[in-house]
Amino acid sequence: MPATTRTSKTEAAAAPDSEPGRDCPRCPRLVAFRETWRAREPSWFNAPVPSFGPVDARLLIVGLAPGLRGANRTGRPFTGDYAGDLLYGTLLEFGFARGQYDARPDDGFELVDCRITNAVRCVPPENKPTPAEIAGCRPFLTAAMAEMPRLSAIVTLGRIAHDSTVAALGEKRSRVPFGHGSTHQAASVMLFGSYHCSRYNTNTGRLTPKMFRAVFAEVRAHLDAPQT
Ligand code: URA
Repeated sequence: MPATTRTSKTEAAAAPDSEPGRDCPRCPRLVAFRETWRAREPSWFNAPVPSFGPVDARLLIVGLAPGLRGANRTGRPFTGDYAGDLLYGTLLEFGFARGQYDARPDDGFELVDCRITNAVRCVPPENKPTPAEIAGCRPFLTAAMAEMPRLSAIVTLGRIAHDSTVAALGEKRSRVPFGHGSTHQAASVMLFGSYHCSRYNTNTGRLTPKMFRAVFAEVRAHLDAPQT
């Protein structure tokens, strides 16, 4: 390994795990928001939402951040969020999930060869993380990718997730630009860009279920293609 890429023991010790602790202190604004909601809704999850799905999956889906009354309440990505209905329905259709999605973390729904994480693990006010919060949470995204030994495809949901994933992969945004339906080989991974399956995007027609399915059809074909 060249000296410039060697990781010292101190750096390795300081590198975060893929999951922030419940009281992660990195982003003061998100900590304050979390505290407010812990006081207001003590039965909610109200903490960084962990990734969901098997770590030996080949597909990783990167969302934006937990929704306030969805993943932040239930503790599972996209669960209880409007965006989860389209996402989980599509994953079932393409064989990346089994069971019945019932918008509850104890619904028994399982991901198959697929894992889901968020670029920002804590719920941001108005669903809008700041650039500093996106960068501050990126080490967890980097670690989440590094811990997947078979990772070969990533679907990024929306520009923020895409750009943060590209940065986590050590690539330049200019080489790997975001676009719906875009595909790029980045390091050993194929990146598939998609508009976010948010209520806003589906209500305005920016993203139709058909457009969303087309992305997962490509992912399926990529993963099912014989390895050369
Ligand atoms: N819920 C999530 O967990 N992530 C998103 O990006 C949107 C909703």
